[in-house]
Amino acid sequence: MSRKKQFKAESKRLLDLMINSIYTHKEIFLRELISNASDAIDKLYYRSLTENLKDVDRDAFVIQLELDKDNRTITIHDNGLGMNKEELEQNLGTIAKSGSLSFKKELEEQEHQDDVDIIGQFGVGFYSAFMVARNVEVISKKYGEEQGYIWKSNAADGYTIDEIDCDHNGTSITLFLKDNTDDENFDDYLQTYEIERLIRKYSDYIRYPIKMEVEEQREVKADTEEENSEPKYETVKENKTLNSMIPLWKRNKSDITDEEYHEFYKDKFNDYSDPQKVIHMSVEGNVSFTSLLFIPGKTPMNYYSQDYQRGLQLYSRGVFIMDKAEELIPEYFRFVKGLVDSQDLSLNISREMLQHDRQLKLIANRLEKKIKSELMTMQKNEREEYEKFWNNFGLQIKFGIYNNYGMNKDALQDLLMFYSSSEKKLVTLDEYVERMKEGQECIYFVSGDTIDKIDKLPQCELVKDKGYEILYLTDNVDEFCIQVLMQYKDKKFKNINQGDLNLESEEEKKQLEETAEENKELLQNLKDALGDKVQEVKISSRLKTDPVCLTSDEGMSFEMEKVLSAMPEGNPYGMKATRILEINPNHEIFGALQNVYASDPDAVKDYAELLYNQALLIEGFAIDDPMEFSRKICEFMIKAAK
Ligand code: ADP
Repeated sequence: MSRKKQFKAESKRLLDLMINSIYTHKEIFLRELISNASDAIDKLYYRSLTENLKDVDRDAFVIQLELDKDNRTITIHDNGLGMNKEELEQNLGTIAKSGSLSFKKELEEQEHQDDVDIIGQFGVGFYSAFMVARNVEVISKKYGEEQGYIWKSNAADGYTIDEIDCDHNGTSITLFLKDNTDDENFDDYLQTYEIERLIRKYSDYIRYPIKMEVEEQREVKADTEEENSEPKYETVKENKTLNSMIPLWKRNKSDITDEEYHEFYKDKFNDYSDPQKVIHMSVEGNVSFTSLLFIPGKTPMNYYSQDYQRGLQLYSRGVFIMDKAEELIPEYFRFVKGLVDSQDLSLNISREMLQHDRQLKLIANRLEKKIKSELMTMQKNEREEYEKFWNNFGLQIKFGIYNNYGMNKDALQDLLMFYSSSEKKLVTLDEYVERMKEGQECIYFVSGDTIDKIDKLPQCELVKDKGYEILYLTDNVDEFCIQVLMQYKDKKFKNINQGDLNLESEEEKKQLEETAEENKELLQNLKDALGDKVQEVKISSRLKTDPVCLTSDEGMSFEMEKVLSAMPEGNPYGMKATRILEINPNHEIFGALQNVYASDPDAVKDYAELLYNQALLIEGFAIDDPMEFSRKICEFMIKAAK
């Protein structure tokens, strides 16, 4: 007897959680195990074709189920590739390697709130067996190897692996069902009709026959024809195929229910939630293929981590060739999951060859266009759905534009959405441009942490008052994305916090110039008081009720400076946006400044400092010397009270 080994730490926590949580979909254990069996057969099938293995009978592939009511066990046999000792150890000793890490993080963040949901998010796979079984035994022999092995576990105490004699390759998994409780009757899984129902529901499309011995009543033909005699029945045993074996994507679209699509997706792509969108297409022509694509209903937990692998499954005439073929899907649509089945692809195609395969490029092209057009249709006709999509994957689209220096912008810019000041919801650039005021030349935007904060920015007030719509940018990548776009439908983007807006009338312009001229000395004094901190102190044309704001020149914006400074490696070139302090000439503070300056020019220094610090705070920057700031304010308060 070999020594008992413990599951890896994370796996153990997950197991405990899964087994003990009130997981409502326990029945999915069967589809998970059958899926694994089918994958294992796929692997051997593929090898038998590509390596021309003579000793593999491709017609004999089967997944055989066995129910034992007396011992309360279910066994799932397959004659697929099987596993050797190392593989048993590696595959069944650690839970979903990729998922476990993010699971751990998520768990820490959420403080166990959403246990059930977390489990579902990366698919439970083999371990789902423990939702219904107290003990699990796996007997496996790898194709081409001599020795078979038996893996045993009761989840709680880890597992053992021992040698065992097996006469053929493949895997048998036996589940020793848990005892029934008041709430749960595990004996249900020993009923043939229940198993038949589960196979039809979850595993109907599996390419290999799923068989089980069933007892059926058959009418016995009587020897002599007697009038009015009761028909007689006998019970016969039959090893019946329970699934239709037609891959879902090969079936007629009109015959497939949403539920079938959804179950298929959840099974194949290890998701707990239904997909948001199903795209099922068949193409004939230069290249012929069938494709079944899904847009997930939720952002996968590891989506923005390195664990996440993009790509579609690749089939040739229904034979599985490979998983995650990246070449089939562009980086910016990497959230799409699914498969492609084409008769035009060679079975022997390797990952290296994929990059140069002309047929594959044609397919990828068609898929990309299709995904884009489906998204555009959703944007137009199902706005709420599209917003949901945007919340899940909008960031990806923005990164898609930013990466590759905007080479993909034509494909992606119509998909963009930003929050609008006037519509108070997400709008597209096209909608913005359609609504532009007569004579409006630019698409206005401004950035900040949150919609609320942006909405209160002093520099937004007048622009909004004049009837212009402003896009509020809240993601770090937004400004970078917009900078790469430069313009949309010949309209340039304009940050309302940078440079001149030129929104004033000739009259107003003249007035401003006069005010600036009259107060030249005062402004220069304020600038001198602030030294290098600002490039200029000037009369503002963009403020309405607030006293001051900080703006920058064209070029780098404050938001970009903040994003760069927050990068792990820091702001590499110490790049900073220029700082211009703007003062509202119509605010009382301006009159106050003029008065102070007239009586004591030196006294404006403190005013300059205070106004500058206020502007910094409004812009979300830290001030250099908060103690000094607070001391000065107190001084002013005391003075005011005298
Ligand atoms: P997943 O199938 O998502 O990779 P599982 O936990 O279901 O995760 O299975 C882990 C691994 O164990 C599989 O990837 C496969 O390599 C192996 N495995 C599971 N069941 C079988 C089987 N019946 N035959 C051969 N290998 C299997």
